[in-house]
Amino acid sequence: MQVLIAGAAGFLGSHLTDAILAEGHDVLGVDNLCTGSVENLKHLKAEPKFRFLEQDICVPFDPKRVDYVFSFASPASPADYMRLGIETLMVGSAGTKNLLDIAKKYGAKFLHASTSECYGDPEQHPQTEEYWGHVNPIGPRSVYDESKRFSEALVTAYHRYEKVDTRLVRIFNTYGPRLQMSDGRVISNFLAQALKGDDITIYGDGSQTRSFCYVSDEIDGIVRLSKSDEHSPVNIGNPTEWTILECAKAVLKVTGSKSKIIHQPLPQDDPTQRKPDISKAKRLLQWDPKIDLQTGLKLSLEYFKACVAATV
Ligand code: NAD
Ligand code: UDP
Repeated sequence: MQVLIAGAAGFLGSHLTDAILAEGHDVLGVDNLCTGSVENLKHLKAEPKFRFLEQDICVPFDPKRVDYVFSFASPASPADYMRLGIETLMVGSAGTKNLLDIAKKYGAKFLHASTSECYGDPEQHPQTEEYWGHVNPIGPRSVYDESKRFSEALVTAYHRYEKVDTRLVRIFNTYGPRLQMSDGRVISNFLAQALKGDDITIYGDGSQTRSFCYVSDEIDGIVRLSKSDEHSPVNIGNPTEWTILECAKAVLKVTGSKSKIIHQPLPQDDPTQRKPDISKAKRLLQWDPKIDLQTGLKLSLEYFKACVAATV
């Protein structure tokens, strides 16, 4: 297959590119590098089945014949999407539409990276795909949440009205090598702080929860979904729930760091709890995450040590 991966220079997009190439397909990676980096693709320099196009997907473009479109381009870290608020809204609307038009033109299959943020600050716990969410439409996170919710509506409309063969994955907090060290997400911040001996910054009292999925498990679930005929959203995430304080302690243990834990103000609308119900993915895709947080942090250490070494 000819596969287009939008957001290929990002954290998940670059791992997805590796997985799709490993299945023997040709990949055109498309990215405008606003939050991603060509460093994430440097190991593919001599790979004849991979091509890279620097392109903003909000601007219409023609990649020529494609058989599958993966829509992963969007700022994803809260610090990034709050810095790039309008760009985030545009990539989820105009950008997603351009990719759907490409899929429609070439009769390609389509998979869109959606998010647990569609559930907002959830009042249902754990979150099933049927839950409609609890989102502030004008708060600081709205540029991301509403962009992603609009994308889900658009993808579903292209399936319903235009018969495009679409899929929607709701991704829960994923981490691992190739996360940008300074993107402000909790695992990148904590690992970098611990390895540098800086204070570990917990926002609020650290009682808010997240459920962390290691990147290889996430990509395995996404690839399985890409081969299925399920058109409604599927949660892919690790259901083991951690408080942010427990997560900080796990990072200190894995790194052996003596960093001090300090508390900083909790950002507005920061979700208090998040945990996927993954029954649907288990049933439909025979998928189950394998890597727990301690193991995943260990697997991420070498990469973060190299990032820290490069900054000193
Ligand atoms: P990332 O920031 O590392 O990657 C996103 C990539 O998209 C970057 O390379 C960026 O340069 C590119 N991009 C952004 N706007 C673009 C545009 N207009 N045109 C072309 N390229 C553009 O983030 P990530 O963690 O790899 O996230 C990838 C996707 O998965 C995103 O859609 C995100 O919303 C979704 N997601 C990720 C997580 C997670 O935990 N990592 C959770 C939920 C959803
Ligand atoms: N967080 C934190 N310290 C940090 C970075 C994040 O306490 O240095 C918290 C943040 O307030 C949130 C959780 O960790 O409650 C996860 O944050 P992240 O930015 O990774 O993603 P989110 O799940 O909020 O989109």
